[in-house]
Amino acid sequence: MLESTIFHALIITGFVLAAATFIALFFIVAPYGRHTRGGWGPTLPSRLGWIVMEAPAPLVFALCFALGWPPASAAAWTFLALWQAHYLHRAFIYPLQRRGGQPRMPLAVVALGMLFNTGNAYVNGRYLFTFSGGYPLEWLTDPRFLGGLALFVGGFVINRWADHTLRSLRRPGENGYRIPYGGLYRYISCPNYLGEVLEWAGWAIATWSLPGLAFAVWTAANLLPRAYAHHRWYRQTFPDYPPERKAVLPGLW
Ligand code: NDP
Repeated sequence: MLESTIFHALIITGFVLAAATFIALFFIVAPYGRHTRGGWGPTLPSRLGWIVMEAPAPLVFALCFALGWPPASAAAWTFLALWQAHYLHRAFIYPLQRRGGQPRMPLAVVALGMLFNTGNAYVNGRYLFTFSGGYPLEWLTDPRFLGGLALFVGGFVINRWADHTLRSLRRPGENGYRIPYGGLYRYISCPNYLGEVLEWAGWAIATWSLPGLAFAVWTAANLLPRAYAHHRWYRQTFPDYPPERKAVLPGLW
């Protein structure tokens, strides 16, 4: 089968799966973190699970960059830097920084995450570094790139700040949950998910690509229902949970 056939099939599958995932996750909450429960088969230590699940994203993307043709332009190097700024941290630093919590996660969650990250890094990397024919230097001053970059950086900062705030709620070795306060937590329960959604929406705009759009849609489809599940859990768990707080969209939802 031609590689372009597989490439397009993967993108279409991505959009279809995003729609199905969005609906399914309102009924079945992904069983990791606070929503961990039995009945999902064999499990892995959470730290290892996160590394194994996320590592394909930086590795496959770097491979697509190395195999790319035409030779890398300044725009290609910029896309590589943005992607790796997120994913080298997510795959190799974030898992080591996590504190306490559920010590294990289902192998099924890890396997699905790996599959997604491999396919997603492949379609994004292959498109940007080969199938697009290369982005010219002028792309870096195009308003779509600059607007997307601003959104990406804004989302990146929110995501990292919010995850850091959650981490600070536990001392090393602690397992429980507390109510997070301050910054965007005044308005929503899950600023880390909002940041992630903004980041990949920015990526879709900055790359102006179908794989980028598929990734942004998938991220929203995956994280908005999970934010709703977290929000409901906070309200059920803490009687003093701030009633004005929304799930993930300030003032709205
Ligand atoms: P969560 O917000 O569920 O948890 C983040 C970390 O903070 C976990 O270690 C968690 O512990 C801990 N934590 C969360 N809330 C509290 C609290 N109230 N008190 C104390 N500790 C708390 O995020 P995820 O684990 O789902 O995701 C982690 C990162 O990965 C996020 O930045 C997210 O955006 C990103 N991600 C991206 C996805 C995508 O589709 N692009 C998919 C999934 C995640 P514990 O694990 O014990 O609950």
